[in-house]
Amino acid sequence: MNPEDEMYMRIALDLAEQAAAHGEVPVGAIIVKEGRIIGMGRNRREADQDPLAHAEVLAIAQAAHDVGFWRLDDTTLYVTLEPCPMCAGAIVNARIPRVVYGAADPKAGAVHSLFALLTDARLNHRCEVTGGVLAEPSAALLRQFFATLRQQKAASRDPQPPPDTTESP
Ligand SMILES: [Zn+2]
Repeated sequence: MNPEDEMYMRIALDLAEQAAAHGEVPVGAIIVKEGRIIGMGRNRREADQDPLAHAEVLAIAQAAHDVGFWRLDDTTLYVTLEPCPMCAGAIVNARIPRVVYGAADPKAGAVHSLFALLTDARLNHRCEVTGGVLAEPSAALLRQFFATLRQQKAASRDPQPPPDTTESP
C-alpha cells in the first residue's frame, strides 16, 4: 500500500471520528493538491439539516474555493467510505483525477458496489480509483457508531417500570 495514501487517509479518519463525536455518521474526506491539503470535510447532515452536507461535497466546495476554480486538476480526494451517487457525481463534475477510499458501501456505494460512476466510459471524466485503504478502521468506526445508535434507541424504547402500588396514600 502506498504510504502516502495511508498517511492522508488517517487524516480523513480523524475527521470521521470528529463526525461521530458530534452524532453524525462517521465519514471524513480531504483533498490534496501537490502535497497540500486544500479541502477538508466531515459529514454534517444532522448539524446542518442538509442532505447535501456529505464529507466529500464539503471538501470539494472548500477545495474549489481555495484554488478559485471549479476544476480540481492535479488533486486526490481521500474519503473513508465509498462515495454515494451524489458525491461520485460531484467528483466527476469537479474533474478530480484520483480518488482513494476506505471501506466499501454495499448499500449506497457508487464507485464499485452499486454503480461505477467514476469509471463509466460514457461520462466525460474518469478517475483513477484506489479502494480499501484503511478500510477496516473506517468500517469499524461506522459499525461502532450504528451499534451505539441502536443501543440508545433500544434504551429509549424500554417500558417504564410499573407504578409502585404497594404504598397506599
Ligand atoms: Zn455522499
